[in-house]
Amino acid sequence: MTDGELLVEGDPELAAKCYPSGSKNEATAMCLCGSVEIKLKTDEPSVSGFCHCWACRRTHSAPLYQVLYTDNANIDPETGDKREGEFEITITKGFDLLKPGDPGPGNPNYESWDDNPNFGGIGRLFCSKCGVVMMNALYQRPHSIFNDTDEPVDFVSVFPATFTEKMNEFIESWQPQFHVHCESSILPFEAINDGLEKFATWPPPDED
Ligand SMILES: [Zn+2]
Ligand SMILES: [Zn+2]
Repeated sequence: MTDGELLVEGDPELAAKCYPSGSKNEATAMCLCGSVEIKLKTDEPSVSGFCHCWACRRTHSAPLYQVLYTDNANIDPETGDKREGEFEITITKGFDLLKPGDPGPGNPNYESWDDNPNFGGIGRLFCSKCGVVMMNALYQRPHSIFNDTDEPVDFVSVFPATFTEKMNEFIESWQPQFHVHCESSILPFEAINDGLEKFATWPPPDED
């Protein structure tokens, strides 16, 4: 199995049936205790999909997880500082309760965001009252896998599992595009017959 290998071909017609869309472009994410609330408003998320990697599974205590990324938020992913202005992801309640988790180094698969060649940032943020993981605050390093510019690009995300709305209420661009890191799946991912492409790791970046 090689990096970025396509393990299961996509079937766009089936995917459209499995993931019907609606008209909303705005969601509200809420933690279990209600202290943290995050709004997502965008016409075009940068990534929408499912990840099966060990780190996402363990972080969320889930057999797989679903994520929506954008490239701007009212938190600086490098420092954790609050930003003023209009953003696609806005932490509307409990900003100061959001804390990064410690991913290791007791973990045998430990790789800090400092070591990661593609991504940096403060990482996965959880509500320090109820413990629910609410967002990823990352950035793409200059000249890395998805960023061929000289500047870092913010890479921030929220999770549909915490939304107060259902996924079929949202526009087509919000619907999941693929399953990634299927090589570390604990589920028989071939049996998830949802028409989406399933990749060993990440899909290779577009050639053009
Ligand atoms: Zn993952
Ligand atoms: Zn909470």
